[in-house]
Parts: sequence; structure tokens; C-alpha cells
Amino acid sequence: MILTNIKQLVGIQSEDKLKTSGFEMNKLNIIENAYLQINNGKIIGFGKMKDLSMDEIEEVEDLTGKLVLPAWNDSHTHLVYAGTREKEFIDRINGLSYEEIAARGGGILNSAKLMEETSENDLYAAAENRLKQVMNMGTGAIEIKSGYGLSLNGELKMLRTIKRLNEKFDLTVKATFLGAHALPKKYKNNKEKYLDLIIKEMLPNIEKEGLAEYIDIFCETNYFSVDDMHKILEAGRKHGLKPKVHVNQFTSIGGIQKAIEWDAISVDHLEVMNGKDFNALKNKSTIATLLPSCSFFINIPFGPAKKLIEKNISFALATDYNPGSSPNGNMNLVNALACIKMNISPEAAFNASTLNGAYAMEISKNTGSITEGKLANINVTSNINSYGFMPYSFGQNHIERTMIKGKWIN
Ligand SMILES: [Zn+2]
Repeated sequence: MILTNIKQLVGIQSEDKLKTSGFEMNKLNIIENAYLQINNGKIIGFGKMKDLSMDEIEEVEDLTGKLVLPAWNDSHTHLVYAGTREKEFIDRINGLSYEEIAARGGGILNSAKLMEETSENDLYAAAENRLKQVMNMGTGAIEIKSGYGLSLNGELKMLRTIKRLNEKFDLTVKATFLGAHALPKKYKNNKEKYLDLIIKEMLPNIEKEGLAEYIDIFCETNYFSVDDMHKILEAGRKHGLKPKVHVNQFTSIGGIQKAIEWDAISVDHLEVMNGKDFNALKNKSTIATLLPSCSFFINIPFGPAKKLIEKNISFALATDYNPGSSPNGNMNLVNALACIKMNISPEAAFNASTLNGAYAMEISKNTGSITEGKLANINVTSNINSYGFMPYSFGQNHIERTMIKGKWIN
């Protein structure tokens, strides 16, 4: 298949470029009036229209007036969940804090209760619906976490649901085990016992069924400590799971440093960062992941994207799609918020949402840019003048069509 007369082909990278960092994030390689050739689900060529020679009669699609970009890679979500929590949202508008809502039985524990009451089939149906919605907004690969089960059966139910999504859809779905998301009510005064349950019961079963690739923990004041993280990541490694962790959302307690010790693939959130935290991330393979729609929704500081660029630390942008702090899986909105609230360029937001998102899921060899040999995971825009129009005209969907592994999904 050849896509022709593309107004701008955006996000071209060389094969060896697996992530972007520092001021190079402000650059995007573009070809104006371009073609893109696809075969067997992969990109096999591209260039200027004037250089295109078509030997045989090929399937041609004329994209006059439209931009073609790599699909978004959303590397941090909790897309599998039961029920919704708009009641807590309204409580918050009426003056209750996030902590007060949690103390009343709201928050993660509320989602855990709803999870327990929901069958695996209903859970799957709701998640499938959400996944289709985000694919229609241009997401071409996604990471999904467990963490609302908080019991052996609940966590397995969530991870099996993620596995089913991966089997049903062409897009890449990466599974992360987040048993240490919150302390269930039953273990309120016995954290050690819950950690034991994760280590001795949940992890062996997850390995046996091959249900996850990554392990996560919510390392935060009043949740899980740095020592807890050490234990969980150590146990995870024994069962073949690599760390991708929640750190520095509300407080800086040394989680980044500990995660780096364990060769974390990514450290996520980072709304609160001190000098030591920045230094720990310098020249490391671990990538930072920022979640602007979470900051927007619960009114907390935004991650320090600009500072990370200045310090040459690579970061990805993701939605954190979840029922409590970011009930939205739209990567276009994430891009807009990064530009508007974090004050970074559309180019940097774009790089963080495509190639760097892929890096945070360890798939940037195969996707995340327009590169010969990579998967044909692409987005086609409506008739717009430039990619800068997308975050500028925020809150609207300018993606008309999405192709995953060479197949149009819409
Ligand atoms: Zn999260």
C-alpha cells in the first residue's frame, strides 16, 4: 500500500534512535508532500512525492491535505477498572480533599470494592470499550496495570483481562503487576502480611500464568516506603518482572534512587522533585514518565518537563488513564496539557508521546517513529496546517484515522 500526497510526514527517525532527550526533543524531522509505503504491516519506504516511482499497480490512498504521524504510545495506564467515581469528583468540588475522600473509603479502595463485585466478563467488556475509544483517538500501543484487585483473585482477574485485550487486539498491550497500589482494608494494621501475600502468593501465580512483564509499586508517604519497594522489586525480579514504578507524586522520599538501583525501565509521576532526584536520573537508561492529565484533574503540580529537557533527562508522556485521578485516555489532550501547562514545545510533547513512550514500554525498536522496518502504526489527521495545530486546538480530536500493524482500525 502507498499513502500519497501527504501534506507532512512527521516524526522520521533513524533506526538506531531509541529515545530522544534534552534539546533534541524540540526537533522533529518532517518531509513535506510525501509518500509512505507499507507492506506486511511494516513501513518499507517513504520520501518526497516527486521521487516516487510506482512499478506495479499498487493499492494507493490519496491523503491530500493531511498529516501522517506515528501513533501515540501510552506507557502508563490503569485502563482496566470496574465502575466509575464521579461521586468523589463532586465531593472534591464541594471541598473535600483527595486524602479526606480516601479516608472515607473512597479512592483506590473504592475501586477495589467495585472490582470485587464485578465479574471478569463485565470487567473485560468495560475495558474493551475504553480501549476501542483510545485507539480511535490515535493510541497504537498501551501499557495497563493491575492494582485494583488487592487480593490474589482480584489481581489475577485484572491481569487475565489485560491478557485477553492483548490477544484480541492488534495493538501491543503491555501488562504491569501493581499489587502494591494501596493497603487493602483487611491489612490496614499489617502491611508486612500484605507484602507477604504479594511475594509468596500473587507473584508465583502471575509467573505461572505468564500474566505480566513489569512490576510496579506506589512508593509514597502513607502508602509504601522505599524499603517496601526494595522488597517488592527484588521479589519481582525473581519472577522475571522488570520495574516500572510510581514515585514522587506527592513527596520525595528516595523512590527514584531505589528504582534506579533496580534498573527500572521507567519512573513515573515526578510531580515533586528535588535536586538529588534530578541528579539520580542523569545519564541513566531509566526514563521518566510524566502524567499531565492527572495533575490537571486533581489539581496538583505538573511534572517538571522543561527542567528535564534542560538537564538532558529523557521523559515520556502518558495518560495515567484511571477512575480516580485521570478518567481520560486521550493522548491528544496529554499533548496539549504538556504544551499549555508544562510549557514545552509541541515537538517535545510529540517526541515524548511517540518514540519516548515506546521506549518506556521497551518497544522503540519496533515503533514510535517513521522508520523503515518499523511497524506501520500511524495516525492520519484531518485537514490541518501543521502538527502544532493539534495541541493548540486542544480538547478536540484531529485524528481521522489510525493504522495499527498495517491495518486501518477505523
Ligand atoms: Zn498511575
